[in-house]
Amino acid sequence: VKNDRESMMAVSGFAQKFFTNQLLKSDEGRSVGLSYLRSRGFRDDIIQKFELGYSPEAKTALTDEALKNSYKLEFLEKAGLTIVRDNYKADRFRGRVIFPIHSISGKPTAFGGRVLKTDKKTAKYLNSPESEIYHKSRILYGIFHAKTEITKKDRCFLVEGYTDVISFHQAGITNVVASSGTALTVDQIRLIARFTPNITIIYDGDPAGIKASLRGIDLVLEQGMNVKVLLLPEGEDPDSFSKSRSAEELQAYITKHEGDFIKFKTGLLLKDAENDPVKRAGLLQDIVKTISVIPDAIVRGEYVKECSALMNVTEQVLYNEIAKLTKKSR
Ligand code: ATP
Ligand code: MN
Ligand code: MN
Ligand code: MN
Repeated sequence: VKNDRESMMAVSGFAQKFFTNQLLKSDEGRSVGLSYLRSRGFRDDIIQKFELGYSPEAKTALTDEALKNSYKLEFLEKAGLTIVRDNYKADRFRGRVIFPIHSISGKPTAFGGRVLKTDKKTAKYLNSPESEIYHKSRILYGIFHAKTEITKKDRCFLVEGYTDVISFHQAGITNVVASSGTALTVDQIRLIARFTPNITIIYDGDPAGIKASLRGIDLVLEQGMNVKVLLLPEGEDPDSFSKSRSAEELQAYITKHEGDFIKFKTGLLLKDAENDPVKRAGLLQDIVKTISVIPDAIVRGEYVKECSALMNVTEQVLYNEIAKLTKKSR
C-alpha cells in the first residue's frame, strides 16, 4: 500500500500530464495558454522541457479527470490541487498557465500558476500550498534541470522567477535556479552548496530586487560560500534581458558586469556618497558589517584588502570595526 506521500506524488504526476496535455492538445489550452507562452517568445522545446501546462477555466476539470482515473479527492486536496469545502470543490489553478515545480530528482511536487492577463484584483502567480511533498523554503525552481550544469560550471545563477529560469535555458545558460518570489532561505543555499560554493545573484533590476540581493549576499556569505552580484538595467529581469540576446552576448554581459559584493554595494551607494562624509561612513559600515559575517578569516582578509583600497581607508581601521561587530553578535 502507498503512504500519503506516494499518493500525493502520484496525483501530482497525473496533474502535470493533464496540464501539459491541455496546453498542447485542447482548443482552450492552445488558444489561450500556448499562444500566451509563444507570444512571450518561449520556444516549443523549452515549453516541453519544463513541462509547462494549462489549467482549464472549468471549475473541476482536473479534479473530475483525476477522480475518473481512480485518484482520491483526499490526495488531490493534500497535494493542493483541489480546494475542498463542505459541499464545494474546485481546481486551484483554473485558467492559469502552469509551471510545475520539480523535486531534485525531477518529479513534479508542486505548481505555480500564472494568470494570462494581470490586473490589480488577482495575484499574478498562485502557488501550491506547503504540503508533505512540497516545502517551499527547501526547494529551488529549476534545480533538477540545472544540477549537472551547476557542477560542471562550478557556479549557480540565482534569479527570482520561473520565467527567468526558463529564458536563461532558452538562451543556452542552464546553471540557473529561482527562489520563486519567496525570500531566500538557508536551506535553499545549502541545496546549491551540494553542487557548487559559487553563486551569482541576478535579481530584477528594481528596488525590490536590489533589496533582495543585499539580503541574499549576507545569507550566502554566512554559509561560507562565495557570492557575486549582477545588477540588471532598471526595469529588466533575466527573462526580459535575455530575450533579445544571444548566449554569447548574455555570457559576455554577465562576465563583464558581475562583481563581488563590495563592488555591488559601492556601485549602488558611492555615487551620492562620494562627496558626503556621513554617507561614505554609512556605506563603509554597511560593507564592514557584511565582511564580518564571513566565517573564514582568510576570505575576510581578502575583502578587507579590497575594501581598504577601494574606499581609501586603512585595513587596521576596518579590522577594528569588524572586531567590534563580531564581539557584539557572537
Ligand atoms: P512574469 O515575467 O511572468 O511577469 P516574473 O517572474 O517577472 O513573472 P515577478 O513579479 O518579478 O514576476 O516575481 C518573481 C517571482 O515571484 C515569480 O516568478 C513568482 O514565483 C513570484 N511571485 C510573483 N508574484 C507573486 C504573487 N502574487 N504570489 C506569489 N508569488 C508571486
Ligand atoms: Mn520583480
Ligand atoms: Mn521579474
Ligand atoms: Mn518577468
